[in-house]
Parts: sequence; C-alpha cells; structure tokens
Amino acid sequence: MNTALQPYPWHRAAWDSLVELSRVGRLPHALMLLGPGETGKQHLALSFAQRLFCSVPGEHSACGQCRGCQLFTAGSHPDFLLLEPEEAGKVIKVDDIRAAGEFAGKTASQGGWRVLVLSPAEGMNVSAANAFLKTLEEPGERVLIVLISHQGGAVLPTIRSRCRIMTLSEPPLGLARDWLAARASQGAEVERALQQAGGRPLRALRFLDGELRAQLERFEAALEALEAGAASALESARAVQDIPGRELVDWLQRRVYEHLRAPALVGSPRARPFFRFLDRLVAVRQRITGTANPNAQLLWEEVLMDWKAVLDFDLRHRAQERRA
Ligand SMILES: [Zn+2]
Repeated sequence: MNTALQPYPWHRAAWDSLVELSRVGRLPHALMLLGPGETGKQHLALSFAQRLFCSVPGEHSACGQCRGCQLFTAGSHPDFLLLEPEEAGKVIKVDDIRAAGEFAGKTASQGGWRVLVLSPAEGMNVSAANAFLKTLEEPGERVLIVLISHQGGAVLPTIRSRCRIMTLSEPPLGLARDWLAARASQGAEVERALQQAGGRPLRALRFLDGELRAQLERFEAALEALEAGAASALESARAVQDIPGRELVDWLQRRVYEHLRAPALVGSPRARPFFRFLDRLVAVRQRITGTANPNAQLLWEEVLMDWKAVLDFDLRHRAQERRA
C-alpha cells in the first residue's frame, strides 16, 4: 500500500523550495510555517518530514513504501515527534516541551534526520517558550524543527527570530474550490462552505462534513433569539456552551465586524463599544486557551450579556440621534 502524504496543491511552491533546500543541504535548523489556520500547514510539515525519512524520495512526495515511510505512517518512527496541546485550542505543557528538547538533542536512531513538528507555536505560554528556546539555540546535528503558527504575532519574538519564516497565505480560490469539490458530495454547498470558512479549505471541509455547520446554525439561532429579546443570555449560553470556545469567539468576532461595517458606524463614536467588545473577546480567547478550564455556561452567559448590552446601548444611542 502506498502511504505517501501528498502536499496540498496550493502548497506546491513551498514544497518545491523545501525540497530544493534539502537537495542542496541548506535546510535551516528551525522553520516556521506561518499562515491562516486550517489551510494545511501541518500537513505540509508532515509530508516533508515523511520525505526526509524516505530512502527513495520523489520530487512530489515520499515513496510511501520503504521502511522509513511505513514507520512514519504507522506513527512509530523513532526520529519523529509531533508536539501538540493535549486538547485542541489549549496550551502545550511545559513538561512536553522539555521532552521535545531531549528528543531534539539525541542523534537519529535510523542514521538520518530527526524531525520535531510543534503545532501551534502560539500554544506555548511564556514559560514553555522559554523552555523551548534552548532547544532552538542548540539543536543537534541533522535536526529539523518545524513550528506551525496561525498567529505569528502571538509567538514570542525570541522564538520567531530564531526560525526561518515561510509565509503561506490562503490558497487561490480556484484551487481551493476544485480541491473541495472533489471531496464534497454536495457540489452546490462548496461556495457557501468556502465563504463561511474565509477561504480556508480544511475548515470548509469540516463545514461540509456537517458538525461545524450544525454548530454554526445553533449559534446563529441562539444569537438571533438573544438579539431579538426572545431569549435571555442564560438561555442562549445554555444553547451554545458545548460548542468549542474558539469557534464561538471566531463567530462572535465576525458578528461584531458585520456591525462595524455599517456605514453609520464607520468613524463614529458609536463604534467604540463594539471595539471594546472585540477587546473583551481577545481576553476571552486567552482565558479559554489557558490552563484553567472556565465554566463554559457562566463564561458565555457573561459574554452574551455584554454583547446584548452593546446592542441595546447602540439602539438607545441611535434613537437619541434621531430625536436630536
Ligand atoms: Zn519511502
């Protein structure tokens, strides 16, 4: 069975330059793949790692059949480590970072490369990042560290500055559409999914798979009920509290931006409460990615109450403007 990972078509240029760097022996010790989430950066890193372990690598992928390829696919290659948070959206544990440092310090058991993929780089808090610095500064021979980052700004500059940064933007719409259409049964839904996902193909695929869409629809219904005064913040929070917090933050942000695009709000003091609410969402994101597990029902009840207050305040403000 051929188990070769194929890089996504929109990563072809990045793939070619990685292959070229490895061909001429100029791979950096540390590489940061920087770009929007759910566009396949980690897949690119894994595909390239597999190629490094492959004994007969091709131009476009690993062979998928040799011992290195098979160990890699089985998840048992001794020279490969993928480091992620235990739970999606949470921070990476400092203990895991230390273990990764030990991994990177050893020599390869198969006589070739050792590859450490850490995803996402912003999943390291300050103490984890400091623990990781030493690994970045003194990597062993033939060690490649790949950091995946969806938000470069959230990564400590001391980490960033020690990596060769490769920026990967959203794929061209045509490529994303073709790739998605080949995987989706509902052709007509492809456009809507891509639009919902902001052009990020893997997210669009999750949307088409149904679960994400069902959650989004539930979120929209809860918000509309709240905004119309048909449901309390408590009731709306109860309806959405099981949805991953990072999705709720994203969707709420989009909702705020939709309001801010209204011509009457552009450049108006009326926009201020909306911006303050965006700041609040940034703080909420930090809280839910932190090590503590806030009570989701309470957290979202508070946030939704604030959101309703922003809208009510704006409504009163508009009414006053009309009277004036
Ligand atoms: Zn192979």
